[in-house]
Amino acid sequence: MSRREADVIIVGAGLSGLIAARTVLQAGLTPLVLEADERVGGRILTEDALPGVPVELGAQWIGDTHERMFALAAELGVETFPQYDEGETSYDLVGSGVLRENDFHARFGSELAELEKVLRLLDELAAEVPPEAPWLAPRAAAWDSITAGAWYDGQGLSPVARTLLEICTVGILAVPTVEVSLLHLLFTIQTCGVTSELFAESEGGAQTVRFVGGTGEIPKRLAALFTDHIVLNAPVLLIEHGTDRVTVHCRGGLVAEGRRVIVAISPTLAGRIMYDPPLPGVRDQLTQRLPNASAMKAFFIYDEPFWRADGLNGQLISDVGPARMSNDTCIPGDDHGVLLLFLEGEQARTFGRLPEEERRAAMTAELVRHFGERAARPEFYIDGEWSDRQWTRGCYNANCGPLVWTTFGHALAEPIGVIHWASTDTAIRWSAYMEGAVEAGERAAHAVIAELAG
Ligand SMILES: Cc1cc2nc3c(=O)[nH]c(=O)nc-3n(C[C@H](O)[C@H](O)[C@H](O)COP(=O)(O)OP(=O)(O)OC[C@H]3O[C@@H](n4cnc5c(N)ncnc54)[C@H](O)[C@@H]3O)c2cc1C
Repeated sequence: MSRREADVIIVGAGLSGLIAARTVLQAGLTPLVLEADERVGGRILTEDALPGVPVELGAQWIGDTHERMFALAAELGVETFPQYDEGETSYDLVGSGVLRENDFHARFGSELAELEKVLRLLDELAAEVPPEAPWLAPRAAAWDSITAGAWYDGQGLSPVARTLLEICTVGILAVPTVEVSLLHLLFTIQTCGVTSELFAESEGGAQTVRFVGGTGEIPKRLAALFTDHIVLNAPVLLIEHGTDRVTVHCRGGLVAEGRRVIVAISPTLAGRIMYDPPLPGVRDQLTQRLPNASAMKAFFIYDEPFWRADGLNGQLISDVGPARMSNDTCIPGDDHGVLLLFLEGEQARTFGRLPEEERRAAMTAELVRHFGERAARPEFYIDGEWSDRQWTRGCYNANCGPLVWTTFGHALAEPIGVIHWASTDTAIRWSAYMEGAVEAGERAAHAVIAELAG
């Protein structure tokens, strides 16, 4: 058994935990980060698919309003570049057959106008939700007792508009809209600004900017600033907590003692740690009800981005195949063509369970329909499933089903004695995103620093 001592113990070396540690260190206190995995970064995971072609199995983009992430990248010397966005998107919805964007817009103009109206309504309703306490929204009780899906169904939308709305929303939440409450959807919109920021891939959207060398450079360089304060392969199993003291036990025998602990992991995983004395029932009831969503990314790498020459931007939106959406994720300065397919919600659950050969074949067929025969001949393929990963168990984040926010939501970020909570899932701005992970890490660290100063 080995022992370590620090002012603040931090569970998890994802972005939130690393930011908390750095903030604590900057305040003149000693942090100790305990990370279960053999690497830092958590839901940020860059793999070198081919030399010079890093792919993001985890987080990839930031958007114009992700101020903390821009500042962090600049500070760490990680450069950014814009997402490629020239050409038309390819659609295949509700039996339309494959249509290019201009043709799709010409044919379904009134359906798109219907969709726009509902998005504006969602923005109006979301503006009533206080992100720090969604349960206090004036209509919280009503909005929390209906699912987002049921509310969508009640808007009288045409099949094309309803299907598009579902695809856009599942692209954010990574679960079918019948699994989240309307209040949770409105909270998500409110933490991100407006629906146009959330759903758009062009200017103003959340997915407009990428990192040179891969997103993984961010946690890697951040952790390098205080390596001595990070222990890898140290899964936290038990947290003993007293009035001004905390003892954290890891698998493998490490015991860390400190004055405060920040648990910077998703709520459902936080609920799997043992606490002595046990946490209040309301906190455990909450973590029993905050499942991580289901998403995976699959990358097809070609000798060149052949779709660009056809006037396509590499994006597809479809309700036919395994992937509802795709993206051109080429690396500037490299000749390869890289297409990313998203499998989210039901698609991730169904196709993620198939042998790789089968899900790859299904995705290839979809790509060929949208981008032509050359799509069947990638040089390289890689995909990444997240629910199998013991220290993540699904992504992109935790979602609230009906009545969770209004019944248990207040226990999400509220400290319990010497225990504080971080992770993007507890953020009030860009919750579920890297931006939210940074905000939550800073918030928890500042609270601890204030307590220890007082
Ligand atoms: C496929 C995918 C795509 C995404 N795309 C984007 C995107 O484009 N843009 C964006 O902004 N965000 C995106 N995200 C979300 C983003 O990755 C997360 O919001 C952010 O990285 C979460 O950071 P975190 O520190 O809160 O949590 P995590 O990254 O989950 O970190 C938690 C850490 O705790 C560790 N841990 C877990 N249990 C224990 C334990 N018991 N003891 C010790 N350590 C433990 C884990 O190993 C992990 O390292 C994506 C996520 C995924 C998975």
